[in-house]
Amino acid sequence: MEREITIALRFKLAIGDVTLNEIVYRLKELRDRLMLQILGEILKSYDDLICERLSQTKLYPSKARRGLGWHLKRGDPDARLCRGRKVRKRGYRRNLRHVSTVFGVLKLPTRVVECCKCGAFYTPLLSALKIGRYARRESNFEHEIIEAVIDTNYRRLIDGRSIDISVGGIHNVVVGSDVDHVYQEPVSIETLSAIMADETGVKQHRGRKGELRAVIGVTTAGRVEPLGTFTNIEWPEIERTIKERIKEAEPYNIPFVYDGEPGLDDFLADVAQSQRCTWHGPRGLYHALWEDGLKKKESQPAIDKIKHLVGIELPEGDFELLKEEDKAPVKTQYDASKAQVQELIETFRQRGYAHGASYLENLSERMFTHIEMWLKSGVIAPKTTSLLERVFREIGRRLKKIAWGWSDKAVTKLSKMILLKQYSRAKWEEYWKHKLGIKGHFHINIASVSIVTM
Ligand SMILES: [Zn+2]
Repeated sequence: MEREITIALRFKLAIGDVTLNEIVYRLKELRDRLMLQILGEILKSYDDLICERLSQTKLYPSKARRGLGWHLKRGDPDARLCRGRKVRKRGYRRNLRHVSTVFGVLKLPTRVVECCKCGAFYTPLLSALKIGRYARRESNFEHEIIEAVIDTNYRRLIDGRSIDISVGGIHNVVVGSDVDHVYQEPVSIETLSAIMADETGVKQHRGRKGELRAVIGVTTAGRVEPLGTFTNIEWPEIERTIKERIKEAEPYNIPFVYDGEPGLDDFLADVAQSQRCTWHGPRGLYHALWEDGLKKKESQPAIDKIKHLVGIELPEGDFELLKEEDKAPVKTQYDASKAQVQELIETFRQRGYAHGASYLENLSERMFTHIEMWLKSGVIAPKTTSLLERVFREIGRRLKKIAWGWSDKAVTKLSKMILLKQYSRAKWEEYWKHKLGIKGHFHINIASVSIVTM
């Protein structure tokens, strides 16, 4: 079915005064309202077509009514669908149907028909458009709301579009989303070079402090693969959930990186190899030396030294395969750093800093394991720890801005969305395309734009 829309726009222009900026400014103002009206016209015309086909059964064979006229059988206690596809037009509903769209609120007149078979009254346009009976918004709108929320600029989206959605409304959009599905697909350890986990605090209802925990994978190509986020769920249960997604049962020698959370020491022990992050090493050393009675000024040189040793320089790039020729300098530096840490431990002992010495000894055991692993396997994630830190800082920052006072469910879903949007673009787009049901059933293009002088 093909139709043409005629649009008449009228403009006045002050010759010699108007600027490009002003023209664009006014056109931009017009954009959403124009789209809203076009949408309204398309829907009215669609409504006419549908009702025509359902009422003129002599003119239209049943094939022409395919996909139209779905309704519940009148008075059926089991809410079964009626097979009747012949209707009588019964005018328009008294109230306009309000639907929030990405262009603003659409106020749509909707036709009512009466089924000739069961006598039910219904609006065939809504079922044809696949809008639920009580739906008040379309999903593109939901999409933009969520994108805007994630980017923490939803005010900008709403302002000037006569859209009214409160923080509570957004909360409901988030809670109602089915983003969980994306987090149920199986993952293969084979495609990962590391798994990481961490937690961050979130303020929830009535200022209650909640814990958001997340597990992410880093693919061998260096991309973040979100594995799951959880709000106020303990690590053992998280471990069970993650394990269910992992295809392989046998252990793989990929590192599991974490920040020393007590509950994580054996996390995923049967599929990965635990490895504590070292980015808090220097801070821990400060604490240990303080226990030995050292003031900040006195411990600072040793802390600086550790900071330097922890940050062994690795070849450029976030995540890459360590090339053979890059290995030698890394190895040299690694040996030197290790020797220096040993020296420092010895110095601490001689000076009687028992806490400092044992802390450093502990740290040194795990400090270099990732480098040893990279030298062995060639897979490097030089900024793994900083990536972990960055990912969590990012989630935390956004959640703090948006999700203040939200429920566990909302925080969990929102953090899943943040991770997908931020680090798994393709999956995020796939999710929405699927959700919006874009299948090539509607095409529109601009036939011509021309000016008629008045
Ligand atoms: Zn019926």
